[in-house]
Amino acid sequence: MKNATHFDSKVVHAGQQAEPVTGAVMPPIFLSSTYAQESPGVHKGFEYTRSHNPTRYALERCLARIEGSALTEEQDPSFGGFAFASGMAAISTTLDLLDSGDHVIAMDDLYGGTNRLFNKVKRRSSGLDFSFIDLTNLELLESSINDQTKLIWIETPTNPMLKIVDLEGIVRIAKNRGIILACDNTFATPALQNPLEIGFDIVMHSATKYLGGHSDVVSGALVTGNEKLAERIRFIQNSSGPILSPFDSYLVLRGIKTLSLRIRRHCESALHIAKWLESHDAIERVIYPGLPSHPQFDIAQKQMTLDGKPASGGMITCIIKGGLSTSKQFLEKLAIFSLAESLGGVESLVEHPAIMTHASVPPEERQTLGIDDGLVRLSIGIENCNDLIKDLEQALS
Ligand SMILES: *Cc1c(COP(=O)(O)O)cnc(C)c1O
Repeated sequence: MKNATHFDSKVVHAGQQAEPVTGAVMPPIFLSSTYAQESPGVHKGFEYTRSHNPTRYALERCLARIEGSALTEEQDPSFGGFAFASGMAAISTTLDLLDSGDHVIAMDDLYGGTNRLFNKVKRRSSGLDFSFIDLTNLELLESSINDQTKLIWIETPTNPMLKIVDLEGIVRIAKNRGIILACDNTFATPALQNPLEIGFDIVMHSATKYLGGHSDVVSGALVTGNEKLAERIRFIQNSSGPILSPFDSYLVLRGIKTLSLRIRRHCESALHIAKWLESHDAIERVIYPGLPSHPQFDIAQKQMTLDGKPASGGMITCIIKGGLSTSKQFLEKLAIFSLAESLGGVESLVEHPAIMTHASVPPEERQTLGIDDGLVRLSIGIENCNDLIKDLEQALS
């Protein structure tokens, strides 16, 4: 890495060097599946692309550095960063670190696909035991840990209720007890929050979202600053093979270069729009970590920051008065916001969790979590903020 210390510079340079043969500033997309050897076992460090690929390494090293892994090349060839074919592949790989019979404590309000992977796949195929609890209640965490507990899986802010988990609080209770602490950092991004620096062992991303940032690639990431964990993740990544392709690695690396710029706009517009929505008569409730009405506002102000000042991300959840029929009408009427799953891209998106992203969560659980039929989730893009407000205004009226 060059002397790039501020995050704005890290996203452009971290883990990068000019390509050694040509000096190309951007890493070429190395599509080759295999690499010529001079003599059996004598090669330039690359044998087969599932195991190592220069374009993927460039991305993985960048991921490692922007999430705060300090591992050297001697400790791990890609500094503890790993790129996967999807966010789900990254989560699945994390669960493969465990043994059958192990116990996992996970946040109750999770990305729908994570809930499905845990409950419908890994419980059966890996013999894992899961407890889903509200980790905003740290006493509940303390009393849920048992001798078999080997992983705590956090999302903060959560999807879609935007609950905030106190990362320092989790570390205080669960660190040094032989439990892997993992955080899905997709919503906050390393621009706002660095779980590894707080004491977490693994950070996971759906790089499909803010890291890629342009809604044109599906990808996932894991980062660890722990040498032993890096060795084990590398072994599983190579053994089961859910790697990111060279072309997609290039796209995510390209996206990350503007992460810092994009996040500034996402945060600024989302705060403005959240305040505007909160004052609108057609809205029952707005959930945004940057509003004083948010239940964990104080933790959010401390935990998510940009240049030392509170910044609360680009996601807003709100409940429209009138339930399903009104919220459907609202979603159909929006023009700039596209009605689509996913989030974190340059364009504004809106979705209906109960029907779309969280349909795989059983209805009773949705109700307990508060995923109401009038609840919609907004991903605020980088368009002009006033244009977005005008669009919301016409759809609400
Ligand atoms: C999208 C998402 C995932 C899953 O990632 P994919 O790239 O879609 O596989 C996991 N966690 C969160 C918070 C997400 O938003």
